Amino acid sequence: MMRFAYLGSGSKGNAALISAGNTTILLDCGLGLREAEQRLERLGLSPADLAAIVVTHEHADHISGVGPLALRYQLPVWLTAGSLAGWKDPPRQLVKRMNPHDPFEIGDLQIRPYPVPHDAREPCQHVFSDGVFRVGVLTDAGSVTNHMRRALSGCDALLLEFNHDVEMLRQGPYPAPLKRRVLGDRGHLSNAQAAELLGSLDRSRLKHLVLTHISETNNTPEHALRAAAGALQCEPDWMVCAHQRDGLAWRELR
Ligand SMILES: [Zn+2]
Ligand SMILES: [Zn+2]
Repeated sequence: MMRFAYLGSGSKGNAALISAGNTTILLDCGLGLREAEQRLERLGLSPADLAAIVVTHEHADHISGVGPLALRYQLPVWLTAGSLAGWKDPPRQLVKRMNPHDPFEIGDLQIRPYPVPHDAREPCQHVFSDGVFRVGVLTDAGSVTNHMRRALSGCDALLLEFNHDVEMLRQGPYPAPLKRRVLGDRGHLSNAQAAELLGSLDRSRLKHLVLTHISETNNTPEHALRAAAGALQCEPDWMVCAHQRDGLAWRELR
């Protein structure tokens, strides 16, 4: 059995829970210590239940809360050499290095990282498995590579970035350099890019689709859901959004 949930998703702080068998890891933590503790409790866990924290990249919305939480509860932190180099004050004694091309295991959880184009030092995303089910995660990528398509094909659950609606971003209040950054090849996935990716994947096993990292300024859940429904050519009840404040309640694969 696998399950997953979000403490929060978006540019004000990302943190997901991925669980297989007796092992639960936190994927990123861009929330303060108190906030992370409270949101874990909301999902029925305490930080002491976590086996590790896995980090995708060193941007603040993913890493700002990792150090305090790891130090407080002595949790190992898995990340790439580049993410470590880009992190100002890492808890060095807790750090475990991952290579973005090499699978590794934490307890009952098998983890297959893959590199993505994003403006961080060595960003990677992950496919998680218990040996039966596969949960593919992708946030913070400015464009889609064939390697990413292969990594995410045939998953039972996809947790995918639908960051912005291109027109809302263009017309919106962001300063021009930030607009260029988000729209760039190493920025964030638009609804259209994410939908195109989704449409290109083998979805024969897909039972859960979670739309994540939705911009509160340049997107709405409705825009993101409409784009995803277009790619799926239907609007299944297993398609949901993860939210900035409310995250996402546990969803299960069994
Ligand atoms: Zn982010
Ligand atoms: Zn980022």
